[in-house]
Amino acid sequence: MSLLDHLIARIDIDGPLSLADYMAECLLNPKYGYYTTRSPIGAAGDFTTAPEISQMFGELLGLCLAQAWMDQGSPAPFTLAELGPGRGTLMADFLRATRAVPGFHKAMDLHLVEASPALRKAQAEALQGHSPEWHDSIEALPQQPLFVVANEFFDALPVRQFLRDGSGWREKRVGFSDGALSFGLGPIAQQTALAHRVEDTRDGDLIEICEAAAPITTALAERITAHGGAALIIDYGDWRSLGDTLQALRYHAPSDPLDAPGMADLTTHVDFEALCGAAQTAGCAFSRLTPQGVFLERLGITDRARALAAPLQGAALENLITAHRRLTHPEEMGNLFKVLGLFPATATPPPGLQS
Ligand code: SAH
Repeated sequence: MSLLDHLIARIDIDGPLSLADYMAECLLNPKYGYYTTRSPIGAAGDFTTAPEISQMFGELLGLCLAQAWMDQGSPAPFTLAELGPGRGTLMADFLRATRAVPGFHKAMDLHLVEASPALRKAQAEALQGHSPEWHDSIEALPQQPLFVVANEFFDALPVRQFLRDGSGWREKRVGFSDGALSFGLGPIAQQTALAHRVEDTRDGDLIEICEAAAPITTALAERITAHGGAALIIDYGDWRSLGDTLQALRYHAPSDPLDAPGMADLTTHVDFEALCGAAQTAGCAFSRLTPQGVFLERLGITDRARALAAPLQGAALENLITAHRRLTHPEEMGNLFKVLGLFPATATPPPGLQS
């Protein structure tokens, strides 16, 4: 049995799947899912992320949140959490950089929200000397001040796609015909969740909704509002979703999302407006959506790169210069990736962000 066999059997019984159900099966099926069965990040995997490009990324996020913690009076104890920590690289760099911040590690309880057993193992290895507690869901995070980072986590959550048809919407679905998985469209229906999009869309436009994102943001925002803290959410996407952003990556190259289910990474762009709406309802303030390059420059990435470059030459120096460029340049990750900060309405935004 393979994931494809399982999907065919499920479609046979239930009919075509929503894209969200398809993505959830591909990414997180307990037996065949992409994240559940492998460690896909890095040169040998399918995609590379900012913390894998350079230690500077995790270091600067660490110092940013440590400063936010001090700005809020250094609460103790507090939760330091990461959502979807991948190979644990970001958190290892974060913790090394914050070692010298007085009282920070002593007051910290480290919590990781991670669905993948394979990646939990990699995280345990990367974070030797620390004792993280792992959780399947955000709700399990303790009720105390919460400082949390999520890099490329929200883009991995399943989305539904809807095509505008007159004043209604047709949901995109995954079916099985002529021996292969294929996309189709459901019947025209009204969608209350899309009522606010009737005005700014036209016939034929496609909208994505990530139903899992709001409850996750709400759980973070409720803790930050009630107890203090801050969230740094970094991902590709924009204020409002428009168009089909589903992307499959295999061996660092784009592939067909219906080809080889469970063996490619599937992502979509994040609709940050939906996250901000959920945060606001929970009484939490949010920052302006800030391009990653601008955010890292404000935090001093160029000074950090100069310091790291001082003893280097040859290929090592070239690598560092390339990494700095990849993280910050508008034509690389600098503009595509955005940073959103959540913080209590009574506090200042984390460094590098503005309200
Ligand atoms: N933040 C890391 C990894 C990004 S990949 C980095 O920047 O390198 C996405 C991560 O989120 C992986 O660790 C994956 O296993 C995890 N993940 C995806 N969906 C999840 C879910 N629903 N619940 C918990 N973790 C999830």
